[in-house]
Amino acid sequence: MFFTSTRDNNVKVTASKAIADGISPDGGLYIPESIPQLSADEIKALCGVNYKERAKKVLGLYLTDFTKEELDYCVEGAYKDGKFDSEFVAPVVNVHDNVNILELFRGPTCAFKDMALQILPYLLTVSAKKNLKDKEIVILVATSGDTGKAALEGFKDVPGTRILVFYPNDGVSPMQKLQMTTQEGGNVGVCAIYGNFDDCQTGVKNIFTNKEILDRFEQNNLVFSSANSINWGRLAPQIVYYVSAYCDMINNGSIKYGDKINIVVPTGNFGNILAAYFAKEMGLPVNKLICASNANKVLTDFIETGVYDRNRDFYTTVSPSMDILISSNLERLLYILCGRDSAVINDWFTQLKENGKYEVSDEVKAQIQSLFVAGCCDDVKTKETINRVYNDYGYLADTHTAVALDVCDSYIESTGDNTPVVVASTASPFKFSKAVLSAVEGEKDYADEFSTVSALEDVSSLKAPAQLSALKGKEVRFTKVTSKENMADVVFEMLGI
Ligand SMILES: *Cc1c(COP(=O)(O)O)cnc(C)c1O
Repeated sequence: MFFTSTRDNNVKVTASKAIADGISPDGGLYIPESIPQLSADEIKALCGVNYKERAKKVLGLYLTDFTKEELDYCVEGAYKDGKFDSEFVAPVVNVHDNVNILELFRGPTCAFKDMALQILPYLLTVSAKKNLKDKEIVILVATSGDTGKAALEGFKDVPGTRILVFYPNDGVSPMQKLQMTTQEGGNVGVCAIYGNFDDCQTGVKNIFTNKEILDRFEQNNLVFSSANSINWGRLAPQIVYYVSAYCDMINNGSIKYGDKINIVVPTGNFGNILAAYFAKEMGLPVNKLICASNANKVLTDFIETGVYDRNRDFYTTVSPSMDILISSNLERLLYILCGRDSAVINDWFTQLKENGKYEVSDEVKAQIQSLFVAGCCDDVKTKETINRVYNDYGYLADTHTAVALDVCDSYIESTGDNTPVVVASTASPFKFSKAVLSAVEGEKDYADEFSTVSALEDVSSLKAPAQLSALKGKEVRFTKVTSKENMADVVFEMLGI
């Protein structure tokens, strides 16, 4: 299996090179040259094994230049017993009727990013050995809140790596901020930006491709890589849990082999739902992929009209990890759907960069609409949904998951489609306590984040994850805030070069 770039069809690299680089030097995203297949028998066999074995099988189809020993080492380390607080790693919970929730937040930082960021440091250090000789890897992360913490936790004190995280100063929840600013580890750095997530992401992408900066890195024996979902090493581990969920649903009797499922994903950068698309294309019986957005509904409009237009107001919502107007991973989907033509992708994404807008061909639009359904949900409806799902079914959903649950309900109501559905749940409700609490008991003021957490514990009779409660009183290590123009200097400063 080789990987090419969405911006240059002539690129051909191994999986380990794609992961070590993070992003292709032409600015494109690495993508497998073809999509490997999982046969019916293979999927059935996966029903009889645990998450780690499922991961080895699925990842092995993509990471073909990893030896069996290397892959075993990565998977065993990442999903080792006790790291995720469920023996299923990502358990499927029935909420009502045909609606199931896939809980992707049982890892160390309580968001779905752990599913990939617990294994990425392993994949990256193995990849670096094969491709980068003795260089030290600098991981630069732009985060809307959850990636930053999950990446810091995954990479802290990993030998041969340094990690620097940029987040929007006013764009993350208090708990997310605290998780990042109190991060331990000798190789970590965190900095807030005056701007939004798109500013952070654009800033990081510009640093990655700036020749002067790259030269300075070269002189210091350093090399960049990415822990954002532009890195294939983030995407591949996310395919695993959709396959795993399907197996678990067979095992618990909610479907039998061959039954189709619908998958609903609360979407920001289009990484999680792209992984679901890959699972489907690999042969998993999936009917519709349902893309749920918050008030920043650029993807809803795109899927409905074929026009991607980021020239619009940016909203700060109660589901901040989805406050995004430039969904990077859409580029990978469009590359496949346009017949793997990098010239077409260059054209559309140059238009996006220059005018903030592009329109796909009618053929591509038709394919998108046969694969995907889109819907959106504002903050008022998000909170109503948390309240309704909690009171009707006793399930406490976080704000992002609630966006997906609302879009799921609207889809079922308008189509009558009663295919079993899997709703990806992307965060613990305790990460967004204030919004979740106000949804279940009405607006009240609490002195600080931790009194909100305890109030939510009391109201719900659930216990907050210990790793969140433990942040109370923890020393804040990182307080720097800077302008988006100043990001490169912060990088030099933090690295001491
Ligand atoms: C990152 C994130 C999302 C969005 O996922 P994408 O892969 O960027 O589409 C949704 N919910 C939560 C809680 C997240 O952390």
